[in-house]
Amino acid sequence: TTAAPLFAFDNSYARLPEHFYARVPPTPVAEPGLLRLNRPLAEQLGLDADALSTPTGAAIFAGNLIPEGADPIAMAYAGHQYAQFVPSLGDGRAILLGELIDRNGVRRDLHLKGAGRTPFSRSGDGRAVLGPVLREYVLGEAMAALGIPTTRALAMVATGEEVYRERIESGAVLVRVAAGHVRVGTFEYFARRGNSEAVKALADYVIQRHYPDCAETEQPYQALLEQVVKRQAELIAQWMLVGFIHGVMNTDNVAISGETIDYGPCAFMDAFHPQTVYSSIDRFGRYAWDQQPRIGYWNLTQLANCLLPLLGGDEDEAKQTARNALDTYGKAFETHYYGGLRTKIGLLDERAGDDDLALDLLGRMAAQQADFTNTFRALCEVDADDPATDASVRRLFAAPAAFDQWALQWRERLATQTQPDSERQAAMRAVNPAYIPRNHRVQQAIDAANNGDLEPLDRLLEVVSQPYEEHPARAEYRQPPRPDEVVERTFC
Ligand code: AMP
Ligand code: MG
Ligand code: MG
Repeated sequence: TTAAPLFAFDNSYARLPEHFYARVPPTPVAEPGLLRLNRPLAEQLGLDADALSTPTGAAIFAGNLIPEGADPIAMAYAGHQYAQFVPSLGDGRAILLGELIDRNGVRRDLHLKGAGRTPFSRSGDGRAVLGPVLREYVLGEAMAALGIPTTRALAMVATGEEVYRERIESGAVLVRVAAGHVRVGTFEYFARRGNSEAVKALADYVIQRHYPDCAETEQPYQALLEQVVKRQAELIAQWMLVGFIHGVMNTDNVAISGETIDYGPCAFMDAFHPQTVYSSIDRFGRYAWDQQPRIGYWNLTQLANCLLPLLGGDEDEAKQTARNALDTYGKAFETHYYGGLRTKIGLLDERAGDDDLALDLLGRMAAQQADFTNTFRALCEVDADDPATDASVRRLFAAPAAFDQWALQWRERLATQTQPDSERQAAMRAVNPAYIPRNHRVQQAIDAANNGDLEPLDRLLEVVSQPYEEHPARAEYRQPPRPDEVVERTFC
C-alpha cells in the first residue's frame, strides 16, 4: 500500500512556458531540523500537521526530499532596485515547490526561501540565515493577525550548515505561503525583452488566478491594472496605519496579489517619526515610512509601462488609459488612509476637518517623540467627557501640553457623535493594536534563537498573534525599548 501524498499539489505556474522559470530542485542541506511548524496555517492549507512534524517533514522543508506532486521551479523576474533597473533577478535562493488549494478554495504557493543556488543566483550562495528567517516568520504572522494581506510562514527549518555573511551564521530555510509570487518585476522581465506575448500570457495568468472578475470586463488588462492599483493603495495605507516600514519596496518585492511580500530589513516604528528608516542599506531614506505611498505609485507606474501593449488603441491611447488607471491611486490611498486614521481616533462618521484633526495629532506625536502604537492604544482608554482619564496618553508626549491642546479640539469633535462612548472605545480598540512585533523584541528573539533558545520566539508569536486583545501578563510587550535595547538598523 502507498500512503496518501502529504500535499495535493496542482502546479499552474509550472505549466506556463518554460522561459518563465528554471526547473531546478532544492539543494539538499547537511542536517535538516524542524524549528517551528505553523499548525494553524497547516490546518488552513488542509495539511496533516502531525505528519509534517517528523523527520520527513523537516527533510521536505529543507529541500532534501521532494514530495510527491511537487514540480520545483525558480521563477524568472526583473526589477527596479532603488530605481535602478536590473533585467534579470529571479529566485536566486528560493524555489517554488508547488501550489496547493487551501480550505477556502484559494490557490497558495509553497515556496522554500534559502533552498540553494538557482540559475538566478548570480554571486549569491542561495542560502538564508536564521535571523532574517525568524524576522520574516514573526512579522508575517503579526501582519496576518492585524488583518493586513501578507505572505506567511508555514515552517522554518535549520540546515545544520554555516552561512557566511558579515559573520558566520546558522543556515535556515523559510517555508513561505503566498497567494502568488508574481511580482511587478515579473512583468518587467518580459516587457523589457520586448516579449509582448509573454506579458500577455502572464497577465492572463494573474487575471485568472487573482482577479477573475477582470476577465468579464470589456478591457480585462485595463481592469487588471486598476485592480492592482487599488490593492496596492489599500495595502500601503494599512502599513501606514500600523507604523510599518517595509524597507525594500523594489518592484521585485511588489506582489501582484496585493500581499505584503519579502520581509527583509522591515520594522514597526516605536516613537513616531515620519522619516523613519531601519534598513541598513537605505542610506537616503528612499523607503522611509512617509515615502511609501509615493513609492507605491512609482512602482505601479512601472507595471503600467509593462502593460501598455495590452491596453488597446494606439500608443497615445494606451498611455492615456494607463494614466487614468494610475490616477485612481491617490484617491484610493487617501480613502483608506484617512478613513483608517478617523477610526483610529474614534470618529465614527466623516466631517469636514477630520483629516486635519488626525494629521494634527500625528504632527504633535512626531514633535513629541510619542510612541506610535501606544499613543493610539492609550487614546482608546480616554473618556470623551473626562480629561482626568488622559493620564496614560499624555505621558507619552515629551511635553504633555501638546496633547492637551489637541485633546480640546478632539473632544469638541467627539461631542458631535451620538453613540455611547463605550461604543467608540470598542471601535478604536479593534483597529489600534496593543501589541506589535517591536524591533527590539524581534532582535531579542533572534539573539536567543542563535543561542538555541526558541522560547522568546514562541512568546513573541503568541503575543503578536492576538494584537488587539490585552493581557496583563503581556504588558512588557507593550513597552518601547529602553535606550540600551534600541535597534536602529535592520539587515536582510
Ligand atoms: P531581495 O533584496 O531579498 O528582494 O533579493 C533581491 C534578489 O537577490 C532576488 O533575486 C533574490 O533571489 C536575490 N538574493 C538575495 N539573497 C541571495 C542569496 N543569498 N543567494 C542568491 N540570491 C540571493
Ligand atoms: Mg525580493
Ligand atoms: Mg528578500
